[in-house]
Amino acid sequence: MRYISTRGAAPVLGFADVLLAGLAEDGGLYVPEIWPTLSPADWRALRGLAYPDLTACILAPFVGGAIAEATLARLCREAYAGFAHAAVAPLVQLEHRVFALELFHGPTLAFKDFALQLLGRLFDHVLAERGERVTIVGATSGDTGSAAIDACRDRDRLSIVILHPHGRVSEVQRRQMTTVTSGNVGNIAVEGSFDDCQDLVKAMFADAPFRREMRLSAVNSINWARVAAQIAYYAWAALALGAPDRRVAFAVPTGNFGHVLAGWAARRMGLPIERLIVGTNRNDILARFLDANDMSLAAVEPSLSPSMDIQVSSNFERLLFELLGRDGRATAETMRAFRESGRMPVPDAAWREAAALFHPYRLDDEATLAEIARLHDASGYLADPHSAIGIAAACAHLPDDAGVPVVAVATAHPAKFPEAVKRATGIRPALPAHLADLFDRPERFTVARNDLAAIEALVRGTALRNAA
Ligand SMILES: *Cc1c(COP(=O)(O)O)cnc(C)c1O
Repeated sequence: MRYISTRGAAPVLGFADVLLAGLAEDGGLYVPEIWPTLSPADWRALRGLAYPDLTACILAPFVGGAIAEATLARLCREAYAGFAHAAVAPLVQLEHRVFALELFHGPTLAFKDFALQLLGRLFDHVLAERGERVTIVGATSGDTGSAAIDACRDRDRLSIVILHPHGRVSEVQRRQMTTVTSGNVGNIAVEGSFDDCQDLVKAMFADAPFRREMRLSAVNSINWARVAAQIAYYAWAALALGAPDRRVAFAVPTGNFGHVLAGWAARRMGLPIERLIVGTNRNDILARFLDANDMSLAAVEPSLSPSMDIQVSSNFERLLFELLGRDGRATAETMRAFRESGRMPVPDAAWREAAALFHPYRLDDEATLAEIARLHDASGYLADPHSAIGIAAACAHLPDDAGVPVVAVATAHPAKFPEAVKRATGIRPALPAHLADLFDRPERFTVARNDLAAIEALVRGTALRNAA
């Protein structure tokens, strides 16, 4: 399997190089040169598989021989072995036609564990084969950092350093990062904002000698392998509900569009997905696009579902590329116009094609709390604010065909956002057993000034400690 850039001007690469590269050299995102497709008989043959084995089968055509099949299967099993639910991704029925796909039983209680636990192991494997090591750096406002740290802890070939704004992440989020005291993990609390942290990461990447010396890398949401790993849970839920012999719809709380793009890919591979419902909070750039072809930047406003507080959905570029007939030049031109004007000029025909499949839904904070309360009253179910938006979106967009069930993707454990859940229901959800002692564990992090040289010295220290 070979990968091409959505902007058409970067080298064509194989899976392992795409994994390590993340972003393409021309600023585009890598996509498969040809989408693998499965016949109905192929899908039926996957029905009885356990979650890790299904993931290995879904990934195999994308990996395309870059990793031996038995190794890939082992890495998938190891990635999901630490999940706190025997089914890995349990499907819970909430209403007659509405199901929640719980993707929050991983080590950090959010769906990003699904892709990142695998990504950390794929990185480690490919780097070991090449005799290389890398230093992963990233900035977090809370959620992604802990999932990335947990995925990279104790991996031989990786060091990871995550910057968070000092005093500005919740205590649960900070502790999920800072109580990981593995030698290859560095946590830096920057005296500044999340934007300052992001600027520091960008500045480290822009410092070419430092970048080379540290072999800097990232595991952000534009990495193709993350999208590929997420295709598996769409297949898992659809097969459980009768696909390929029954159509299924999905409702997805969305930020960077990575998640829902994986749903699109599952459909592209042949799963009968009737629609994809895109849930947003008040930061509704995607809903505005689907409603009225208005993809225009607006200031990010904080909400109860912070992992969906985004301005630009970076993975949207992959869908745009497909909508534009896989024309890299047109995609590059559209992205350039978006950057310059703050408004993406999507041709009408392409927008219509998107709007026929993706259904927009938005919910503000007040309505999100009401939905959490409603779900609890109706069935005793406790949903976090992100998941509640997905479930509300599912209920609002039931397909006319009564034979089509809707799966709402539940992306975070309610205990990850206890204040919102308590406000809505009066119940403060408890942390699951594997994190119950989180508040008693020792923390390790370094507070640092918002200063590039100081941060680079700390990153170097972590990388050297691991290499020693
Ligand atoms: C990241 C995240 C999302 C959004 O996922 P995208 O891939 O960015 O669309 C939704 N819910 C939770 C809890 C998340 O952590």
